[in-house]
Amino acid sequence: MNASRIDTGTATFWIALCGLTLWTAAPEPAAAGAFVFAGETNGIDLITHPTNYTGTETDVTVSVCVDPASANLVEMETSVRNVIFTYNAMVATQGNLIIPSPDLDGDAVDFESTALHEAGHCIGLAHPNAATESGLPGALFNYTKATNGADDAFNTDPGTDAVIGSGDDVRGDDVNLHWFRTSNNDPFTIDDPVDSTTYARDTAMLPGGDTFAANGDRDVAVLLGAGSTEAVMQQGAFSDEEQRELTHDDVASLLYARSGLDSLAGTADDYGVTLEWVGVTAACDVKLSFDNTQTGFAVCQTGGDFLSGDDVGITSANVFFNTGFNWFFNSERNDGSIFEDGFESGDTSNW
Ligand SMILES: [Zn+2]
Repeated sequence: MNASRIDTGTATFWIALCGLTLWTAAPEPAAAGAFVFAGETNGIDLITHPTNYTGTETDVTVSVCVDPASANLVEMETSVRNVIFTYNAMVATQGNLIIPSPDLDGDAVDFESTALHEAGHCIGLAHPNAATESGLPGALFNYTKATNGADDAFNTDPGTDAVIGSGDDVRGDDVNLHWFRTSNNDPFTIDDPVDSTTYARDTAMLPGGDTFAANGDRDVAVLLGAGSTEAVMQQGAFSDEEQRELTHDDVASLLYARSGLDSLAGTADDYGVTLEWVGVTAACDVKLSFDNTQTGFAVCQTGGDFLSGDDVGITSANVFFNTGFNWFFNSERNDGSIFEDGFESGDTSNW
């Protein structure tokens, strides 16, 4: 699941991001965010932008479709359209982690929650936590996303609060990849504007006393008084839980990218993004399908091109799901109405 093929010689690379990892045991701790492609190979300050932004656009439209060859075509539609609605609304919430889900049976997995996470990868976001791609043992997945530094080994010490992923973690020479709010290092809050004047990756910009960027993990949320909350992009999904709303960390990461190549809000290269549903078709910017040859659970495979020395634009994004789970397909629209019109292929309404 962590396969990657990066050809920096051509400035074009393809990477198979590991998507959500599912633990089917009873709920337990799973794990502003980080960006796809950022790291030792491509650059620690790399910011990733969605398809169709090249540095000059003001309004970026990203088309979303489901592959005609996919299983569960009809079942997927409402959830996919809800995901589109959620990203277009850009509402940051606390309390988005609902356990147990009132909709799901005990071993069911919420398709909409998983699709929301994978779609985040498809428009540029990485995991805020170390996650499976770190190679760390599972108990350590929730340390904040970082490189392993000069010693080529992760340093993991949760600090005096004993909470992994919080602001007092001691990480040795690990290099932080998680963009944090410089005023408080609290991923369950958001600044205005969100740009390089209010967020940073360099831990020298942390508020007094903090030693590493805190991430949007559910245990960190409890520590910081944010209740049952977890960043959508945190890797780690469980049966019988829902995460269908974005958190402050998810929204902040998207807004940071949207401050453009100069990372300053209010300048000419800022942009907005609209995800647009284009129905069942083989060609669009973010295509979803069930394909067991591509993933053991769920993944977004993305490709990108450099737009500048530390900016990448996504050039391809495909989400795959594996049929081997008891997926729950939400049938309620985000606005509370029920989708009853059958499959509206080609419907481009933005919700
Ligand atoms: Zn993921």
